[in-house]
Amino acid sequence: MSLTEKTLTQVRDQLRSGDTTSVALTEAILSRIDAVDGDVKSYVRTTDELALEQAKAADERIARGESSPMLGIPVGIKDLICADGVETTAGSKILEGFKPPYNAFVTEKLKAAGAVIVGMTNTDEFGMGSSTEHSAYQTTSNPWDLTRVPGGSSGGSAAAVASGMAYASLGTDTGGSVRTPASFCNIVGIRPTYGRVSRWGVIAYASSLDQIGTFGRTVQDAAAMLGTVAGHDPRDSTSLQRPVPDYEAALTGDIKGLKVGIPKQYFIDGMDADTEAAVRAAIDKLADLGAEIIEIDLNMADYALATYYLIATSEASSNLARYDGVRYGPRGSGRDVTETTMKTRAKFGDEVKNRIMLGTFALSSGYYDAYYGKALKARTLIIRDFEKAFEQVDVIATPTAPDTAFKIGDKTTDPLEMYLSDIYTVSLNLSAGCGLSVPCGFDRDNMPIGLQLMGNTLQEELILNTAFAYEQATDWHKQRPSL
Ligand code: GLN
Repeated sequence: MSLTEKTLTQVRDQLRSGDTTSVALTEAILSRIDAVDGDVKSYVRTTDELALEQAKAADERIARGESSPMLGIPVGIKDLICADGVETTAGSKILEGFKPPYNAFVTEKLKAAGAVIVGMTNTDEFGMGSSTEHSAYQTTSNPWDLTRVPGGSSGGSAAAVASGMAYASLGTDTGGSVRTPASFCNIVGIRPTYGRVSRWGVIAYASSLDQIGTFGRTVQDAAAMLGTVAGHDPRDSTSLQRPVPDYEAALTGDIKGLKVGIPKQYFIDGMDADTEAAVRAAIDKLADLGAEIIEIDLNMADYALATYYLIATSEASSNLARYDGVRYGPRGSGRDVTETTMKTRAKFGDEVKNRIMLGTFALSSGYYDAYYGKALKARTLIIRDFEKAFEQVDVIATPTAPDTAFKIGDKTTDPLEMYLSDIYTVSLNLSAGCGLSVPCGFDRDNMPIGLQLMGNTLQEELILNTAFAYEQATDWHKQRPSL
């Protein structure tokens, strides 16, 4: 097995035993990027020289006897996460050339832990999308079939891990953008509880929903990355003042007596037959492992998508008001302030403009009560649904997405079709829980299927351990795309 086919934990063992070096790993990852990223297009930019410097520094730390979970490991970060001096564009032309003068909290954490950042991964513009087709720079392909999407909006991060161009990566999940691409690319992606990871230095999309998540080829790999970036940070007022558990140590594989809830409303007529069969088989497997399966209700499920798209676009319209060409990114040239602003803001892509208009409308006086106000009320009911469910069960299991990876171009002409991809993921963001996607099978076209496991607030250890137990009992995660 070549170095880039291995998992994070496998190469970490090699680093610790002196079998390999961080420089060797970084060189292997960079040549893998050279070989396949022309086709996959995961990275919008790589930082080869910086990465090799970081790798050398990591090797020195290892030589001094240091060891930490991510020391010397090459990773990718989503192009929404600021890295000091490295162009960070949110997949948008409005930030072309923007080099932040500071690191995001998570970038700081990765650097302090000695991880090696090899580049910025592609994203839908400002995280708005489910396929990575709304990036202003490039469309990322699914490594399992280059004519299909990798999911989104963190599609670059997921495709990079799935095809051996990083051992782990960071994404953001506002409505499913870590879980959906993980599911489409046959890897693990976890979206922790809101506030678990500081968002300081992460370009905002919808602030009451945004959270950083991690990808790995295995549950343990994603857990190692999460443990490194989680934690309190006074610069993000929503970040939780709670100690970070040792997520890797939580992986015992024992789920005897665990109560797993299956929401009736998530298994609907017309859902993809292969997805349903794979997810039902996965639930049977959890039962074989000693879990108790309980049918539950999430009655508000039908309203989640509309609620999410009203709240997300409203918050986006406010967050994106700051791109006026004065403080960040390139400026359009006009004769006066109005014309300059208009020319600058014309750099937004069509989907971003759609959302700014929708959100501005939902917030405007006269419509506020009917749209944004109502969405906030529906959100409260969705939160109550989850609270009630978690009185009955420990974990909720559902498909991650209603379909597997679709063909590039299939859903770009109809935004509603694209929004429907998020039907199983957005409720979690509206509530206060955590969730992940773990590989659970393949469809008739050999495209990956993901099992979503959701947990209550700060139950990351529980959902990770459930996924780990399932992963240890199955081989899906060992399948790799033949790139
Ligand atoms: N697809 C959803 C949206 O477009 C979710 C995006 C995300 O989680 N960043 O809003």
